[in-house]
Amino acid sequence: MKIAFIGIGNMGAPMARNLLRRGHSITAFDVSTSARSSLEPDGAKTASTVREAAIDAEMVFTMLPNGACVEQTYLGEGGLLDGLVQRPVLVDCSTVSPQTAALVSTEGKRRGFSVADAPVSGGVMGAHAGTLTFMVGSDSSVFNEIRNVLLDMGKTAFHAGGNGAGQMAKICNNMLAAILMAGTAEVLALAERNGVSAAAITEIINASTGGNFMSQRWNPWPGVQADSPASNEFKGGFQVGLMIKDLGLAMNCAHSVSASVPLGSLAKNLMVMHAQTDANNLTKDISSIQTLYVPKSPREIPA
Ligand code: NAD
Repeated sequence: MKIAFIGIGNMGAPMARNLLRRGHSITAFDVSTSARSSLEPDGAKTASTVREAAIDAEMVFTMLPNGACVEQTYLGEGGLLDGLVQRPVLVDCSTVSPQTAALVSTEGKRRGFSVADAPVSGGVMGAHAGTLTFMVGSDSSVFNEIRNVLLDMGKTAFHAGGNGAGQMAKICNNMLAAILMAGTAEVLALAERNGVSAAAITEIINASTGGNFMSQRWNPWPGVQADSPASNEFKGGFQVGLMIKDLGLAMNCAHSVSASVPLGSLAKNLMVMHAQTDANNLTKDISSIQTLYVPKSPREIPA
């Protein structure tokens, strides 16, 4: 299939490479010339504008940093909805607000495009391995049309509901992931400071009711799990800065329907506090929240 891929960053580049490996033809666009030409050795063509990339595409994927970039790429002058004669299926895989997804889909449908939001879980590692999970918000017919192409980049694709529902699912998943990570880090530090090693408590909770994805597969204590970001100086994985963005989206969604999200709000505050203790933390994996619970010089504080 002829595919335009817009946003050739940490996620977009490996996703586009997997599409090339599956035999699709890719035309890449990124505002960064070095990013878009990085796919040339893999066989991609490059374009110097969004419109040029999408002009004869059957499907367009966008993988952009935030809602402002998505709105500019779809709704801005020279953007995807502006002046494409053909009507490629438009699939936004970026994590943005359900409101942005709804705006793009409303405007897109009004102009005769099929539109889907299809944010992903699985991170950079999953993007390279082709094991992403897609959460899709679209009409059912559009989901059926894009499903197989999504599975060329991932292992699972869920139809969450109509336009915007994919973003809502992604935001809920990430809020829970942040809560679980902070809770797991808290428990490991508590156990260590009371004489039970992080490795020992991990083994015990993983066989008990407290076991969870973070304790089992993304363990925040360095050395407990050999291949975790925590055991690699918190490199790789999912960056604190991106999680803060997603938690901000969750807070906005909660506010819009007056929902109480005390744990999500606390998790966001913890991530922000962590980022503010050291600017380098913004680009570390979210498991680095562990360091917030391990003071450099622990002091007795009267009970
Ligand atoms: P990134 O910053 O590495 O890549 C984004 C790319 O978009 C960059 O190459 C940038 O130059 C390009 N870009 C910015 N504005 C543009 C525009 N107007 N037109 C064309 N290109 C533009 O970010 P990433 O880590 O690849 O994340 C992309 C999206 O995926 C984000 O919405 C993020 O929240 C989401 N996401 C990231 C991860 C992760 O682990 N990195 C996991 C899940 C979801």
